[in-house]
Formats: sequence, C-alpha cells, structure tokens
Amino acid sequence: MSSFSPPERLLLGPGPSNVSPRVLASLARPTIGHLDPRFVGMMDELKALLQRAFRTTHRLTLPISAPGSAGMEACFVNLVEPGDTVIVCRNGVFGGRMRENVLRIGARCVLVEDAFGQPVDPAKVEAALKANPGAKALAFVHAETSTGARSDAALLCRLAREHGALSIVDSVTGLGGIPVEVDAWGADAIYSGSQKCLSAPPGLSPLSFSDRAVEALKARKTAVQSWFFDLGLVTAYWSGEGARTYHHTAPINMLYALHEALLILHEEGLEAAWARHHANHLRLRDGLAAIGLDLLVPEAARLPQLNTVRIPEGADDAGPRRRLLDEFGIEVGAGLGELAGKVWRIGLMGHGSRPENVDRVLGALRTVLGR
Ligand SMILES: *Cc1c(COP(=O)(O)O)cnc(C)c1O
Repeated sequence: MSSFSPPERLLLGPGPSNVSPRVLASLARPTIGHLDPRFVGMMDELKALLQRAFRTTHRLTLPISAPGSAGMEACFVNLVEPGDTVIVCRNGVFGGRMRENVLRIGARCVLVEDAFGQPVDPAKVEAALKANPGAKALAFVHAETSTGARSDAALLCRLAREHGALSIVDSVTGLGGIPVEVDAWGADAIYSGSQKCLSAPPGLSPLSFSDRAVEALKARKTAVQSWFFDLGLVTAYWSGEGARTYHHTAPINMLYALHEALLILHEEGLEAAWARHHANHLRLRDGLAAIGLDLLVPEAARLPQLNTVRIPEGADDAGPRRRLLDEFGIEVGAGLGELAGKVWRIGLMGHGSRPENVDRVLGALRTVLGR
C-alpha cells in the first residue's frame, strides 16, 4: 500500500464540483484547537460570510458538521414534532427524502406531487395549505439536483407564511449558483451543502433559521430527538458569548476550506457568480442543441448549474459516461430515481462553471456519441 493519489478529474456531475487550488491549500494549513481564540475568530467571520451568501441577517446561521443530508435532517428534527402535519413537495428524489424525514419523526406527511423535471406547482401547494389548516411546515426543494428544475422559492415561502406554516427550503444546489434571498423570501429554515456551487469539499451543510423558526424550536413540547443535531446545543458552541462550550470537535480544516470558498464567492460577488452560471449554461445549451441533444426541463424552470440531458434514441446510458471518464477524465452524473437510464446530468457548479469546461464536455460528447 502507498499514499492515495487521486486521478485528475473534471467534475461535471451533480456534485462534488472541482475544488479550487486556493481552497485545497487552505485545507493543508495546520490544525489548531477548536476553542482556540484565533479559531473562534475565524468561525465568527465564517458566519458573517454565510449570512452574506444566504442574503440574511438571521443570527442562527452556521454550518452543520456533516453533508447536505444532515442539514436536511437538522431542519426537520428541530422543527417537527411527533403528530405534527408537514406538507412536502415532491418533484424529484430529494423531496422524497424530506418525506422520509417527516415520517421517521412520527409526523404526518401531506405530499404535493409534480412530475420529475417540473417545478413545484404553487396552486397545488396553496390547495394543500388550505386543506390542512394548522400544518406546521411546508417543505420543498429550491434546486432539484435529481431533475434540474428550479422552483419559485419566494412564492412558496410566502404561501407558507400566509397560512401560518414554517418554510423549510433545500437549497443545497442553489446557493452560490442562482439567487438565494433568505430575508427577501422570508424563508424560515434553509440548508445547503459545501460541495455544489460553493466548490468546497463535501462534508459541511450551511444552515439558517429565522426568528420564527427559533421561536418554534424554543416552544417545542418534546426534546429534539437527535442529540447531535439539536440546534440548542450546537449554537452553544457556535455562538456562546465569551464562553463557548464543547459540543463536538469541529471539523477544523474543513471549516478553513468553507471559509476560503465563501471568501472567493464574496470577492467575485454574488450577482457576478449568478451571471457566470447563467452564461455558461447558455453556452452548454446551445452546444448541446448543435449536436442534437435536448434538455429535460422546460426553459423557464432550468437550473443553470444542473443540466439534465435526455439520452438520445439508441444510445446507452453507462457506456458513454464511462468513456467520458476513462478517455477524457470527465465525470457527468447518471439519472436518479425514475430518471435513471433516461438522462445524464451535467453540472456546471461553482469553480467548474467556466466556458473552457463547457467546450471540453461538448467536444468529448461529440466524440463518444459520434456526432
Ligand atoms: C446533494 C443534495 C443533497 C444532499 O447533500 P449531501 O451532501 O450529498 O448529503 C440534498 N438535497 C439536494 C437538492 C442535493 O442536491
């Protein structure tokens, strides 16, 4: 055995995305104590950078020490109690996971379903809110990575608020790639991931709770069923004034990486990053059309950072993806759930969203498909 040396890959799938040399260098810096005053100072800056990325002033804004799925679980276990009703929108694989979270808590799940590839239909959501007065929360996926569809988060959060429900928003793939406006939307609980459009390695899940969500947490009748994700305990480490108490040992070097990745996003500017993702999506769209490949999602709901391409008649699913990887070093994603075998997913996320990467994947696709 010897030290592991990963091959060079261009990561154009649904995440992780390529990590920039600057972020990789931050990971190699010396590990210091998780209660060291200098580390605590870095944590405060990291929270401020996250607030900017989320466009929020919510005080409870921090990264959960685990991947995006953990941010999802943290939102549900902190806000939902056994017996509550939660309306979950399912238009892809991740909405299905939200439902799993609700059911495992012992709460009632009302599903609002839309076809994979379509955005969440606000009219159906409004009807479900009317039919279920007293629902605790409305949960939906802003950027469905399994299908490439974007839903109208501002409208869905407003509908939830008008009906007295909390909004729980998955923007794991949204943050850094398309507008995420937590305060303007009035989103109550939102989570993201480090490895999609933020282009840090996987393993952290930025999360933000509104005052309304914090009040709901404080008003719980039962203890949060997960000790690790109990935000009452987690915040004692992330914001204890003067006296931060040990909860778990923070993933120190990973937090350096997220800090650096957010700093890069801040230097570029959110609007500039959104515009870059949009421009590279258009370049890819046009190039795909030129070789006769179609996108699954209707134009108005397309995510620029996740392009779901219909596998053409007669082509197989795994073969071309394997050739992209073996011959060109390019990873693209397979279809998930009911889209397995029907689509490929080309991600243009964060550091990877560049014109030269678009051209590389288009050139490689032309070769492997013989077009
Ligand atoms: C990737 C993703 C997740 C899960 O994140 P992990 O870091 O893989 O746990 C959740 N929701 C969406 C929409 C995602 O794209």
